Amino acid sequence: MHCTLRQVGTKIETWSDSRGQHLQRGVAGAPSCIGPSRCPAGIRGAHLMVEETPMTNSPAPTAEADGETTHIDVVVVGAGFSGLYAIYTMRSLGLTVQCYELGGGVGGTWYWNRYPGARCDTESLQYSFSFSPELEQEWVWSERFATQPEILRYLEHVAERFDLLPAIQLKTKVTALTYLNERGRWEVETDRAGRVEASFVVMASGNLSVPNAPQLEGLSRFTGEIFHTGDWPHQAVDFRGKRVAVIGTGSSGIQVIPRIAEQADHLYVFQRTPQYSVPASRAHLSDEYVADIKANYPRIREETRRAALTSLPFLNRESAKEVDAERREQVFQERWADCRGAAHFLTAFNDLLVDDESNALAGDFIRSRIRETVRDPETAERLCPIGYPFGSKRLCLDMDYYETFNRENVTLIDLREQALQSVAEGAVTTTAGAYEVDAIVLATGYDGMTGALTRIDIRGVDGSLLREVWAHGPLNYLGLQVAGFPNLFTVTGPGSPSVIGSVVTSIEQHIEFIRDLMVYMRARDLATVEADETAQKNWVEHVNEVANKTLFVKGNSWWQGANIEGKPRIFMPYAGGVGPYRTICEDVAADNFRGFTFGPASQFTGQ
Ligand SMILES: Cc1cc2nc3c(=O)[nH]c(=O)nc-3n(C[C@H](O)[C@H](O)[C@H](O)COP(=O)(O)OP(=O)(O)OC[C@H]3O[C@@H](n4cnc5c(N)ncnc54)[C@H](O)[C@@H]3O)c2cc1C
Repeated sequence: MHCTLRQVGTKIETWSDSRGQHLQRGVAGAPSCIGPSRCPAGIRGAHLMVEETPMTNSPAPTAEADGETTHIDVVVVGAGFSGLYAIYTMRSLGLTVQCYELGGGVGGTWYWNRYPGARCDTESLQYSFSFSPELEQEWVWSERFATQPEILRYLEHVAERFDLLPAIQLKTKVTALTYLNERGRWEVETDRAGRVEASFVVMASGNLSVPNAPQLEGLSRFTGEIFHTGDWPHQAVDFRGKRVAVIGTGSSGIQVIPRIAEQADHLYVFQRTPQYSVPASRAHLSDEYVADIKANYPRIREETRRAALTSLPFLNRESAKEVDAERREQVFQERWADCRGAAHFLTAFNDLLVDDESNALAGDFIRSRIRETVRDPETAERLCPIGYPFGSKRLCLDMDYYETFNRENVTLIDLREQALQSVAEGAVTTTAGAYEVDAIVLATGYDGMTGALTRIDIRGVDGSLLREVWAHGPLNYLGLQVAGFPNLFTVTGPGSPSVIGSVVTSIEQHIEFIRDLMVYMRARDLATVEADETAQKNWVEHVNEVANKTLFVKGNSWWQGANIEGKPRIFMPYAGGVGPYRTICEDVAADNFRGFTFGPASQFTGQ
């Protein structure tokens, strides 16, 4: 059991035990729980304390310059949810922080993915920051699953409200990071002039931030317009009067297809793998519902932090294969009719992700709904996912996806029946013929989990390149640090449970863990921290062992790198879930950050 103190600004916002019970509110600098012996709750286990350095939300101290080199305490790469919270948190420790963001604005995923139909598929009231109760109460979501413009507005608001913009240099790509052994710092190279050295680097570069541009024969010769959902133009694209091809039917494809079908003259959907998708609830976000969540936010957030998939009381503890057919249909039907997020459907029964038989029953239910919805039986069969378990790829949430195939102006092309040959001049050509189109939308996903990290030349202590160290699959400890790459942290990368739950929950946890680690180091005059080789090896084994107990490993998903040619096939996220992962991190922290090796500041004195 653990006692966790969450400290925000000068106030202790929550202080809770592992059951999420609220114990006390207080003022930083005077917390009364300082370990098992004096814990007011009498909790005997690990206590994670961060009271050593009161946090402030004051502007960052000015970075020091030495000739041509600027010295920064923390460089943050990326200004999405992770980067914004990293700036806020590190700056609150009184550190100098410089964030570099490739995009022309903050928001990350929600800056780039402007395609029609883009929205979150986790309820917005959960898919949002929890670190500021004031922000939680102030912000008003207009829809249960907010659209991209609304999430972007939210993140822009966060950046302004907490005065984060001065720390962010936009339109700047980090190209190389080199560890300087003799100085214990990272040299940061960007595509802009200027030399920067940083004591720490936080890679908030996203796990779905590098669009996957598929190697399609002839694409460069295509005469019409080409779009990628992950890098959509800022001006609205008008598809009226046009013949459009959408290539790819993953989460983004499923969101964009119905919206383009509403506009285009004709839409051709090129499908390689049919997906399991559940209709998103259209239920109005009533004032009562919002007020209830807002009134109970501390408890709900704490439950979210402790749960594997979701906090809302979704998990049905029955087994799908053990209830009778009528009960099974009733539960599935209720969740299908008013689905409040992928986790809502995945937890319809307690064994859908671990038991083949129960899993197949969920798959059967979805296939029945597809056959019921899509009028043309052949199209319906083509849309039915087969050959991989339900939930082993990210479960999609849609608005009118299957219904769209009843439209006269939509044709489904199954690439398992007719292979894609080329995309040249004005047509997409398969082995069955040419489909003339004016525009192509690539909904081909991302180089997930590792793409942003391996595209930067990151060189560690012995000059090794991270992408080479990871050539046979990612290695790290707790998903947060790689042996040989001191003081460099990865957020929501491989080994993190982020994509298994609501990603923002993991982002906050990761950043807070890094913060606590820095506080620990500062109190002990330590300058470097690095994942220990053995701890890393054990962690990677544990990640694989946990994944192998689930059905996740049976889907050829981006979670396994299966969408990228030549990428090692390894299930990258931590399948144990968000809550169990947090408990492991708390144990590690309470045990003097077990598995990390520290170096004293004295080794670099005289610099
Ligand atoms: C369409 C879509 C819908 C999603 N819906 C959900 C959802 O409903 N629920 C959920 O939990 N998650 C969802 N996700 C996952 C989503 O990515 C995360 O929830 C979250 O937004 C990630 O935030 P981040 O800050 O970690 O990364 P990002 O938002 O990806 O931000 C990373 C930033 O780093 C920048 N960057 C990368 N490399 C460099 C470099 N070398 N130099 C400078 N800048 C760099 C990028 O430009 C980017 O802006 C969705 C993802 C997509 C693509």
